[in-house]
Amino acid sequence: MTAALQTNYAQLGPEFSSPTQPGRCSRPSVLLWNEALADTLGIDFDPQQQALVFSGQKLLPGSQPVAMAYSGHQFGQFNPHLGDGRAHLLGELTSSQGEQFDVHLKGSGRTPYSRNGDGLCALKPAVREFLMSEAMHALGVPTTRTLAVVSTGDTVMRQTPGPGAVVTRIANSHLRIGTFEHFAARGQHQAVQTLADLAIALHGPENLGDKPTKYLDFLSHVIDLQINLVVEWMRVGFIHGVMNTDNILVSGHTIDYGPCAMMGAYDPGAVFSSIDHQGRYAYGNQPAIMQWNLARLAECLLPLINDDTDQAVADVMPLIEGYRDQYQAAFHRMMAGKLGFTDATTVEPQVVNALLDVMQDRQLDYTHTFVQLGQLLSADQSQTQIHDQLTDWVNTWQAQLAQHGISPESAQQTMGRHNPVVIPRNQLVEQTLEETEQSRQADAVMAMLKVLRKPYEVQAETALYQAFDADDDLNYQTFCGT
Ligand code: AMP
Ligand code: MG
Repeated sequence: MTAALQTNYAQLGPEFSSPTQPGRCSRPSVLLWNEALADTLGIDFDPQQQALVFSGQKLLPGSQPVAMAYSGHQFGQFNPHLGDGRAHLLGELTSSQGEQFDVHLKGSGRTPYSRNGDGLCALKPAVREFLMSEAMHALGVPTTRTLAVVSTGDTVMRQTPGPGAVVTRIANSHLRIGTFEHFAARGQHQAVQTLADLAIALHGPENLGDKPTKYLDFLSHVIDLQINLVVEWMRVGFIHGVMNTDNILVSGHTIDYGPCAMMGAYDPGAVFSSIDHQGRYAYGNQPAIMQWNLARLAECLLPLINDDTDQAVADVMPLIEGYRDQYQAAFHRMMAGKLGFTDATTVEPQVVNALLDVMQDRQLDYTHTFVQLGQLLSADQSQTQIHDQLTDWVNTWQAQLAQHGISPESAQQTMGRHNPVVIPRNQLVEQTLEETEQSRQADAVMAMLKVLRKPYEVQAETALYQAFDADDDLNYQTFCGT
């Protein structure tokens, strides 16, 4: 049984979304199903019903599908006409814990925002979204999740023809920075206020009431959420790949797994997206780009913050300018954790930077290096071979731990919580997608997820997915909107 969907967003008004029915497909069949997530949401269907509902062929009670309107800055250029071009918000579902979630289909057909697109999604990117979002969730990174991938039985034309699929995305909202920009660009300040009030109700901050600084406090809260998000990406080596403002949720959750990749060898310039020629969205640029994106959100909120624009700008500037120091402090706390310090003030930023410098210089694997450092602290470290260039650094680091009375066991425990032993390696993800496309079976994904769902534990199969070799990523390329 499943509770009826609500239509909160659909009811906001015609400017926010367009009623649109999902398209037809020939032979829907469930390829991937997220049992744990379905349980949390109280969704319980037989596979035949799942296939119909999560390909948009049959509507849940209460559902009024809409395509959501939004705009956004794509690679720095404002595009006033985006919106769900191949997606449908079916409605909102309230979980048994009272939390509200959007149930959103992607690849479910054309909408008024499709422009020249076909409204469809190919099977491989659909599977990537399932695999990567589940892996990120398990890593502890805030993210939208994937309930299902249903193959449609139809062919999708991309570089080559291939099978099509529909993804069911579960998110605590789809309020993008680009949604705010959509209305701000049209001078619809009342609509911007409606969005801000909705975002506050869903994502906080709590207990604002009608405080005069309500929208300034909201901006400050969104900045906190985004800093937390980017720091988490940096911690695990995630490269989002397309941080356009339409792909940034104000909730601070990761969305849009199109051209994402994981960094192997440590390199702030790491970039894999085939269209990101300037490296705008490279690993090390992500924090600065997030600040740029937040400045775009701040611009949208100015009229809500003060009728006097100069005053509103004066109010928001300290927040946007303060981002840098706030991010640096949060990044340092995260790195301190990766090195075994629970109190970030006990480790100097220079110590962290010195490690990163060697890693970059020697092209050391980011994930593997931190795992090895943790192993150096165990009683039996005979198996651990660290790079010669790190020997001096390791001595300094261990001396600092000792100086602050942190035992090797305690440091190792802290490190174990911050450093995954396994991440979704690019080439292994590609292999799994390929196998899944060939077999049309869930086995390869489920085998990989068995390991990736426990990324801080070494299981029997973990070693099969730890492979790292800088050469693997040499010509690796990812693609948008596939
Ligand atoms: P994305 O690169 O997925 O963030 O998409 C950017 C914009 O292009 C969004 O408005 C999407 O809805 C739209 N879009 C991407 N792929 C398609 C497609 N196959 N058909 C229609 N619209 C699409
Ligand atoms: Mg997008």
